[in-house]
Amino acid sequence: MTSQDNLLDAVIIGGGFYGATIAIYLAKQRGFRRIVLIERESALLTRASYNNQARVHNGYHYPRSFTTAYRSRVNLPKFVRDWPDAVTQDFTKLYAIARRNSKVTAKQFARFCREIGAKIQPADSSLKALFEPRLIEDVFLVEEFAFDATKLANWATTALQDGGVHIQFQSSVTAISSGPDQTLRVAIKSPFAPDTSLDARYVFNCTYSGLNQFKGDFAGTRTGLKHEITEMALMQAPSALRGLGITVMDGPFFSIMPFPARGLHTLSHVRYTPHMHWNDAQDINPYQKLYQYECATRVDRMVRDVGRYLPAVHNAKYVNSLFEIKTVLVKNEGDDGRPILFEKHPELPGCYSILGGKIDNIYDVLEKLDAEIL
Ligand SMILES: Cc1cc2nc3c(=O)[nH]c(=O)nc-3n(C[C@H](O)[C@H](O)[C@H](O)COP(=O)(O)OP(=O)(O)OC[C@H]3O[C@@H](n4cnc5c(N)ncnc54)[C@H](O)[C@@H]3O)c2cc1C
Repeated sequence: MTSQDNLLDAVIIGGGFYGATIAIYLAKQRGFRRIVLIERESALLTRASYNNQARVHNGYHYPRSFTTAYRSRVNLPKFVRDWPDAVTQDFTKLYAIARRNSKVTAKQFARFCREIGAKIQPADSSLKALFEPRLIEDVFLVEEFAFDATKLANWATTALQDGGVHIQFQSSVTAISSGPDQTLRVAIKSPFAPDTSLDARYVFNCTYSGLNQFKGDFAGTRTGLKHEITEMALMQAPSALRGLGITVMDGPFFSIMPFPARGLHTLSHVRYTPHMHWNDAQDINPYQKLYQYECATRVDRMVRDVGRYLPAVHNAKYVNSLFEIKTVLVKNEGDDGRPILFEKHPELPGCYSILGGKIDNIYDVLEKLDAEIL
């Protein structure tokens, strides 16, 4: 067999929502036939694509980044259209504005929602009564949904199979290099098999926190990344909060959101959810760092502070916590914006690094890919 016979159309590194969806896109929309997806875990969508707040954004979250808010408004209906079974809509979503230390007032928030065309109406008195009026200026009823990561993973499994994509689990790509005849070569390590490599015309690096953890000719992304170890506490909501999703803006900032994959709620708090952070560096492997971290929960502190605004949270039952690395672009630290990272590597023609930022940004990525001549 010649090396041309072994040449793949594409290697996708990372079997999260982005890697899986891009592999399916290449197979079904771009006619790629020989695709291999390499994933270090033993199943699809088990990392950031599972360990998150499950919010299908609709703009409300981003009063400080109009572009991100606007893109969310454009993308949400598409996400609901394409993954209807994975989207939960049957809960009441409230955004409340804190009186003190908030970066927006209720008036500014309402104006911002009108500007981005997002539905907003005053919450009725029974819903307002859930909040401590001395700390909360106003409460609004909005339209925001949640996604079920398990259902997305089931979709990905079936669609990858239909698209003929071969998946290699429990395998990590360690290096990306130039191969013979303008091809790319990825080196693969697995605890269960000897080291191997694959040659491909294209490589899509969809590894989220692991984006820059490659040796070989890979020079890294030009966009700076920041990593955080995050904790989302999984709670059994008390009857007063069941069927509700609540976000308090925009300073004290906490959320209690349905987490459909477990039938529970996540609790997050701007002060206690991020446990530690660092700037991306090639010699600090975020996955290793999380693995070595003690992961001691801060749920007590979350509940204590959230309970001042929303007393019913004291009756929630803590189940366990999702710890994960959250990776954001350094340039958006200040405004909370979540643009995509989409980079081609001049040193490795055919190699792309992609980071979505949030789940509905998949459409921004697919739009970029549509414009690529592959
Ligand atoms: C705490 C938290 C809350 C969030 N809340 C929301 C929210 O409410 N709504 C929203 O839209 N977004 C949210 N996000 C962002 C969202 O989770 C991500 O944008 C999305 O999941 C990224 O998908 P991905 O496929 O790029 O990453 P992942 O799902 O992390 O996939 C990357 C995959 O690459 C694999 N991998 C890494 N390195 C290698 C390697 N060298 N070789 C092989 N495989 C490798 C990993 O194991 C992983 O499976 C949140 C994120 C976090 C962490």
